Amino acid sequence: MAYGELEVLKGVDLSVKAGSVTCIIGPSGSGKSTLLRCLNRLVEPRRGDILLDGDSILAMKPEKLRRRVGMVFQHFNLFPDHTALENVMLSLTKIKGLPTAEAERIAKARLADVGLSGRQHHRPGGLSGGQQQRVAVARALAMEPEVILFDEVTSALDPELVKGVLDLMADLGNRGMTMVVVTHEMGFARRVADQVVFMDEGRVMEAGTPDAIFDNPQSPRLQRFLAEVL
Ligand code: ADP
Ligand code: MG
Repeated sequence: MAYGELEVLKGVDLSVKAGSVTCIIGPSGSGKSTLLRCLNRLVEPRRGDILLDGDSILAMKPEKLRRRVGMVFQHFNLFPDHTALENVMLSLTKIKGLPTAEAERIAKARLADVGLSGRQHHRPGGLSGGQQQRVAVARALAMEPEVILFDEVTSALDPELVKGVLDLMADLGNRGMTMVVVTHEMGFARRVADQVVFMDEGRVMEAGTPDAIFDNPQSPRLQRFLAEVL
């Protein structure tokens, strides 16, 4: 994948098991966000293919892809002029084409799942960062995707709000949601990931279990990275 002349991903070979949590770690600028953006085609790779349960993501119709792959962003990306409930309902009515009453029923249930029943009529501006991020998670869940991508979803939060969002994500992982999580939260990666992937300069430098990556890093770059962040 390249932005103009800048080649960002230089050949990534990665597989993610259904029902597993993959955490992607690595220095800033290593291509983690670009990799996630390829997985839901916010950007298009120049070569190669990406398969979701055997189907090529690159050949999939955008509406289909939006149903099957969810994403949660660092800056929430909620619609500021809509309430929490409306934010969750919008993809259900617009992308899934559900009738309003059905969308509302599902949206309320997912907001309850993330502990926000009492806040459903608030706009994003009236919610804390942690609550906004939980609305974004509820919105992703409401679509019943096969996989959810998370890009540094706690990086913009005040420290005291981080744990609530990480706990919610850990809970989703425990309940069998397939998740690909770009994170700087090494404790979360160690505790929750089935697979940890270390990226550097547009490549997967090392991938393995949390124990292998954190306790027995092989490449000098990963050793250096861990020495800096742990
Ligand atoms: P990470 O998420 O690991 O910090 P990114 O995937 O955001 O890394 O960025 C990888 C490289 O691509 C960096 O060199 C970055 O400057 C560049 N890049 C990211 N987004 C864009 C863009 N929209 N246009 C041009 N270059 C970009
Ligand atoms: Mg990034």
